[in-house]
Amino acid sequence: MSLIHLISLSGGKDSTATAILALELHGIAACRFVMADTGNEHESTLEYALNYLPVALGIKVDVVRADFADEFATKRANLARIAAGEPESAVYGKRKFMYHWTAKAAQRALELLHPSGNPYLDLCMVRGGFPSRKRQFCTEYLKTKPLTEFAMELIDRECDAIWSWQGVRIDESQSRRERLQGTGACVKHFEVVGGGLFTYRPILRWNVGDVFEAHRLAGIEPNPLYKQGMSRVGCMPCINCSKGELHEVSRRFPQHIARIAEWEALVSEVCRPRSPVSFFHMGTKAHAGQASTIESVVEWSKTSRGGKQFSLLTALDESTACSSAYGLCE
Ligand code: SF4
Repeated sequence: MSLIHLISLSGGKDSTATAILALELHGIAACRFVMADTGNEHESTLEYALNYLPVALGIKVDVVRADFADEFATKRANLARIAAGEPESAVYGKRKFMYHWTAKAAQRALELLHPSGNPYLDLCMVRGGFPSRKRQFCTEYLKTKPLTEFAMELIDRECDAIWSWQGVRIDESQSRRERLQGTGACVKHFEVVGGGLFTYRPILRWNVGDVFEAHRLAGIEPNPLYKQGMSRVGCMPCINCSKGELHEVSRRFPQHIARIAEWEALVSEVCRPRSPVSFFHMGTKAHAGQASTIESVVEWSKTSRGGKQFSLLTALDESTACSSAYGLCE
């Protein structure tokens, strides 16, 4: 049976250590590497994963990007019916929305609602808002699905089975520990997905020191963002970032804050003109509206711990690793 070891790279330290380990154990001929480009990464992370690592490790990295052309077509068709005068209930049935479309608002949304080519922004436009810690659909739609499709296509074309290597560690967060610990001392290193696809998590028990040591022994530099105050290097920013991380992002990379502010305005315009959406959500509620625009939250991030302006955003006081068991987000 032919087997391919497929390593998902994020540009972060854990997936890089996993790639180093796979190459050491199985050699380059048995390994393939792939990255899901969400459209929300810092340019240094893309440069690291798609230019530095291929040269330093002697590998080729494939890139997958989610595409939402079908969802845009459906959403545009629905809005066009409302813009033409059909009642919302005739288009959406009994579905309840926070915002009720008028023909004029639907027409305005139609003018702006086009695929941007940026997967993250496009996902938010078709979903009607930004993901949250409770509804973390970004990982599923931008990473898990495209990477699984890539793996299944490889099985169709080139091999009988794939071990999908995930660089996930249980000491990153309580939620990962609970999800991956299994019973007793057992941890879920290996799982059958089906259709010839298997999940392998070789660094579950590693600590962060082990991860950087693997880089050092292989002569591989970590992502340079770690030396620029970033403790995670996935999305810039990630919806799971802490108050301190957001402050660092705004101080060092204000252009990314400005980009998110533009996204907030556009997603609000095409989804809920009268109830704007924001990148960060307040507590467990859905959309906080204008009160928690990225610029407002950045101002709050500059306050000392416990700053009162955004007390409802206390969830951001502590960072949390993405709870995905796939280790696709740092
Ligand atoms: S890094 Fe954060 S924002 Fe990006 S896909 Fe993962 S959870 Fe979502």
